[in-house]
Amino acid sequence: MSEVRNVIIIGSGPAGYTAGLYAARAMLEPLMFAGYLSGGQLMLTSDVENFPGYPKGIGGPEMMMELREQAERFGLEIHDKNVESVDLSEQPYKVVVEGETFLAHSLIVSTGAESIWLNKPGEEAQKGRGISTCATCDGAFFRDEEVMVIGGGDSACEEATFLTRFASKVTLVHRRDVFKASTIMYERAAKHEKIEIKTFRQVQSWLSDEKGLTGAVLEDPRDGSTETISVTGAFIAIGHKPITGFLGGQVETDSEGYIVHKKHTMTSVEGVFAAGDVVDTRYKQAITAAGMGCQAAMDVEKWLEDQHL
Ligand code: NDP
Repeated sequence: MSEVRNVIIIGSGPAGYTAGLYAARAMLEPLMFAGYLSGGQLMLTSDVENFPGYPKGIGGPEMMMELREQAERFGLEIHDKNVESVDLSEQPYKVVVEGETFLAHSLIVSTGAESIWLNKPGEEAQKGRGISTCATCDGAFFRDEEVMVIGGGDSACEEATFLTRFASKVTLVHRRDVFKASTIMYERAAKHEKIEIKTFRQVQSWLSDEKGLTGAVLEDPRDGSTETISVTGAFIAIGHKPITGFLGGQVETDSEGYIVHKKHTMTSVEGVFAAGDVVDTRYKQAITAAGMGCQAAMDVEKWLEDQHL
């Protein structure tokens, strides 16, 4: 077993890196387990246009690399490994990583969220063969082909617009006629000549042949009528769910699995703090995650001081 650390940060998006930066500058010598795919969802995002301080925008991966570099400059120790489980039954807390146990007085959980799939008939077999949840990762495979995006939020509008770089046509399919997306993102998609918007449609089932995806049966939720759409690529952008499985139910979550804050950024377990999309049911922005990461690190510093640790 390791020495007892002041704080271990689990997860590495804007929340985790900002927590790491603040904890390092507070001389807490933080240790971070960043995950095998460090950087979180912004590593899968093309352009970030709404993070203050980048007047020309910045690529998501580039921004995460800069945040990481900034935190490391002040001494954040980062391991690109996944946490398997934690034991919060007694102090110091145990964090198990690849079979090795690490000890800490406090934890900051900033593991973010992962994409939700539709789970419609035929979906499982076509994952990676035409159906994806990441346009930035897979969009280039569909050069001059017709694709669809499912969803009505910022992610769906952003992905649809991004996909016009490659696809000959993008159909944006949404189950209602009101979009959750911000006006600027919606307008950008709606005005694009390569994008067709189909409202009041949801996927009933997927269609495929031996080469991969060929389309989907779309249903009108108002009357159950159906139509077929022919596409070789489909991008599901219907939201995300928080990543908390490794906590084994030891930290209180709400009915959708988001960690609940009890006092400032502290969770139901004394000394265990949480920040970013793993908590945030409402804003889910890079800037709000970064702000919450800062709050969590400051709360850890105060808590350790109060415990005389
Ligand atoms: P949202 O929760 O905002 O939107 C999800 C969309 O998917 C909704 O339109 C919803 O429909 C639809 N949906 C959900 N479940 C289903 C289903 N089973 N079948 C069909 N449609 C479904 O998620 P996003 O990922 O778009 O955005 C999450 C957060 O991230 C938001 O706060 C957003 O602002 C932010 N974001 C910001 C970006 C930026 O600013 N650059 C880019 C991307 C995301 P309905 O409307 O009917 O509920």
